[in-house]
Amino acid sequence: MERRRSARTRCDIHRPHGPGRAAFDALREVGARGVAYIETFGPDPGHVDTSLATLRAVVEAARRDETQLVRIGVSPHAPYSVSDDLYSRVASWARIEALPMAVHIAESAGESQFVSDGAGEFAAMLSARGIAVARRAESPVELLEHTGALAAQPLCIHAVRVSDADILRIARNGATVAHCPRANAWLRHGRAPLHEFRARNVAVGLGTDSIASNDAVRLLAEARDATDPSLSAADRIALATDVVRAQCGSTWHARAR
Ligand SMILES: [Zn+2]
Repeated sequence: MERRRSARTRCDIHRPHGPGRAAFDALREVGARGVAYIETFGPDPGHVDTSLATLRAVVEAARRDETQLVRIGVSPHAPYSVSDDLYSRVASWARIEALPMAVHIAESAGESQFVSDGAGEFAAMLSARGIAVARRAESPVELLEHTGALAAQPLCIHAVRVSDADILRIARNGATVAHCPRANAWLRHGRAPLHEFRARNVAVGLGTDSIASNDAVRLLAEARDATDPSLSAADRIALATDVVRAQCGSTWHARAR
């Protein structure tokens, strides 16, 4: 993280164990503006209460230390690591408490296959753990919609494998997108339909995803690689500097009211 003040807004995602709220504390320390999302996991529907309790403990403690610039948020990780019930309950809580939410969604062909067919590598992985697997939705974004997660207006990280109907769902619910061109290319997942999102007035910012799925965590490199023919130089600068301000900002203002 750059140790200087700037107009830039950051959104960082961390697990509840280990570093926990490290990003939250770091943002406060340097006086930057941002949201630190705490991740939650739980593909087994029998573990929802435990996952939610762990998440709530970390988030509720951090909320006491929120500032005008720094907020805490929640992140039910991804369809292969979050059950329908966990999505629903986290989203319901997030809406009641006006917590920002982020999700990794529609990233890979394997994720889409898992959601729409209940098959593939993720299905095998969960079956091996004794977790029942079945078709859950038409698509990962439709899964977010029918579990209520999309109504919490999440920041949708990746959003590569999306149909026209999915783009409409994201737009209709006022969700936002974190475009991660280098991470998506690094893992050969494809490219997010940036032009289509912009045509539907979906707020899009640049993201890096984690170091586990990228060769580096550098926003300027992401801006350079955001090679959509519809992007002007000004568009690239806006993507790089706005990052996910649209998501953070709207939530912030909604909460302030
Ligand atoms: Zn991701």
